[in-house]
Amino acid sequence: MRVYFDNAATTPLSEEVSDAMLRVMRDVFGNPSSIHADGRKARATVEEARKKVAHLIGASIGEVFFTSGGTESNNMALKNAVRDLDVRRIISSPIEHHCVLHTADRLAAAGVQVERLPVDELGRMDYAGLEARIQTGAGHTLVSLMHANNEIGTMIDLRRVGDLCREAGVLFHSDTVQTMGHFPFDLSQTYLSFCSGSAHKFHGPKGTGFIYINNDNQIEPFIDGGSQERNMRAGTENIAGIVGLATALELACREMEERKAHILGLRSYLAGELQRHFTDIRFNGEQEFPFLYTVLSVSFPPSAKSELLLLHLDIAGISASGGSACSSGAEAGSHVLEALGGEPDRKTIRFSFSHYNTREEIDFLIGKMKGILG
Ligand code: PLP
Repeated sequence: MRVYFDNAATTPLSEEVSDAMLRVMRDVFGNPSSIHADGRKARATVEEARKKVAHLIGASIGEVFFTSGGTESNNMALKNAVRDLDVRRIISSPIEHHCVLHTADRLAAAGVQVERLPVDELGRMDYAGLEARIQTGAGHTLVSLMHANNEIGTMIDLRRVGDLCREAGVLFHSDTVQTMGHFPFDLSQTYLSFCSGSAHKFHGPKGTGFIYINNDNQIEPFIDGGSQERNMRAGTENIAGIVGLATALELACREMEERKAHILGLRSYLAGELQRHFTDIRFNGEQEFPFLYTVLSVSFPPSAKSELLLLHLDIAGISASGGSACSSGAEAGSHVLEALGGEPDRKTIRFSFSHYNTREEIDFLIGKMKGILG
């Protein structure tokens, strides 16, 4: 038996999505930029997908641009805001995903003022501190704060931060990669300049994502070349990927409440079972709703057995992650857990779920963990 509890790293492709993609790969081979009938068919396929995505997130069609994924979308938001919208200051946090953290570092090296607001021991935002920061300081400002943290699941209140930014007249970018498809979005009612989506986080294909760019922000091409994506991102479109993304997002939005209820049930069952069978375990991040319900980050007291827990779980047939998948395999510890100021010696495992997981899988996990840690 192989059990997959690493859905914050990536999710398996759903069958409906792979069927839709296969149909496109087989039947829609034209280049969307060609003006003949085959090209027009491909163009219509891409535009149909764009319309679907825009409708699902409450955006207008001209505000959705397809990209290669969350990393590209977040790079685009920060770099284009600095290059084209005269941003000279970025207010962010120390717990952002590396694609925001490292992009901000690069911009800082080029002279942009980057300020990182500290978070508390649960990874929560200090809204009063943020408000004070936004209202002081010179230069055109971009606030960049992730909607939900991929390692611990703590969220920001998107509306609240959006309102602060709107009132102060500053730009707001949010890395919404972990929440797209898992929480409802209505961008017509939320002040956001940019946000991002990645299909493989909601049972779509890897290497396909999108960026929402609010109509008020006119930016120049991120990738130069042809005039694809309304001249914003050149390169022949990944039509099957785009259709896969739109299909996956449509399914995720349609089934959101059922999936959420199922996943929340699994999450609390696992939390209860862990507390019942093991001593001195702690849960990282916010545990009061709203939090990213797909993630349960658990820390274990330091011991020779817990040290190799992740490896032993893998051998036992269970895929999970240590903190974040992006740092697993690398020696570097998690920058997120470090920012929370916890005890670095404790061993953290991130379990993350999808609607495909079952209670039987959690029983299997607990049985294996008892064997490993017992
Ligand atoms: N932002 C967050 C919060 C993520 O969890 C991830 C994926 O791990 C990304 C950005 C990057 O997305 P992608 O894998 O599509 O580049």
